[in-house]
Amino acid sequence: MTASGSFALFRVHVYSEHALIAHKLTLLRDRRTQPARFGRLLKEVSLMLLSQATAKLPVREVSVITPVGATLQRVLAKRVGFAPILRAGAGMIPAAQELVPGAPIWYLGLYRDEETLRPVRYYDKLQDYPPVDIALILDPMLATGGSAVLAASRLKEKGVERVIYVGLIAAPEGVARLSREHPDVEIHVAAVDERLNERGYIVPGLGDAGDRQNATGANEPTNDPFLPEEA
Ligand code: URA
Repeated sequence: MTASGSFALFRVHVYSEHALIAHKLTLLRDRRTQPARFGRLLKEVSLMLLSQATAKLPVREVSVITPVGATLQRVLAKRVGFAPILRAGAGMIPAAQELVPGAPIWYLGLYRDEETLRPVRYYDKLQDYPPVDIALILDPMLATGGSAVLAASRLKEKGVERVIYVGLIAAPEGVARLSREHPDVEIHVAAVDERLNERGYIVPGLGDAGDRQNATGANEPTNDPFLPEEA
């Protein structure tokens, strides 16, 4: 899939033309979609986005013997890890673990100061972990770009050679900032929306991706065990 829209940048990949990604993203955007279903859809779309984002990872040849004969085939050549940004990025971890079982998961706790819209780091243990070569940042929403820029800087400080950002929806402002401050970081998203609003939310977006998953938004349904869960 190639870059589309106004982002004809080599490193920006927007999968809005992919029918199934578009379908699931529409369901994620719909405010009627409740947290349990939102979480399942986020995992499903993340599987597809991560599959695209990992398509060009470096490989090396190995010999393997099948039940029928010997052959030279390919396996991943580099150590891959994932850096989910808490809290919304946590919903992408199950997809990452399914695709690359056993890959290190480096949690990064960043929240956005609601006044300045700047990211504030509250959990970061990167220095304690053995290195990887390639790290994929997982964060559903690329809004101002502040968190992604900070995450990419931390990963590079840690010695990561290649950083890839994977998310659901980006604002043009976020793509521009991440591309400007880290021109080498590849960006893979399902859509680039219109703009940010004055509170730093992506328009039309899908709201607060953390609240949507965790039933913590002001308008979320109460946790009534007798409410039937929608399909
Ligand atoms: N974070 C979100 O969860 N949603 C937005 O629209 C912007 C940042």
